[in-house]
Amino acid sequence: MKKAKCNFCESEHYEERRIDYLYSHHDQYLLVPNTPVEVCLHCGMVYYDAAVLKEIERHFFAIQKKEEEPDRYIEMPTKAYT
Ligand SMILES: [Zn+2]
Repeated sequence: MKKAKCNFCESEHYEERRIDYLYSHHDQYLLVPNTPVEVCLHCGMVYYDAAVLKEIERHFFAIQKKEEEPDRYIEMPTKAYT
């Protein structure tokens, strides 16, 4: 799904990139490498696909509930409380 214009600068020039997306929820983190995003070439604003974010969130909570294992691309640093 392509956006017609950047919300900030109204540029129509985008580039698809893959980035390491760090999802955070309270003190838990889920690193998701190769997350597809669109970057505005004019102002550098990064746009995330809502469907991609939703899938990351779903995966995160599934891991929390031990329904899914984090795969080898995903690291979840555990904070130690002593
Ligand atoms: Zn822009």
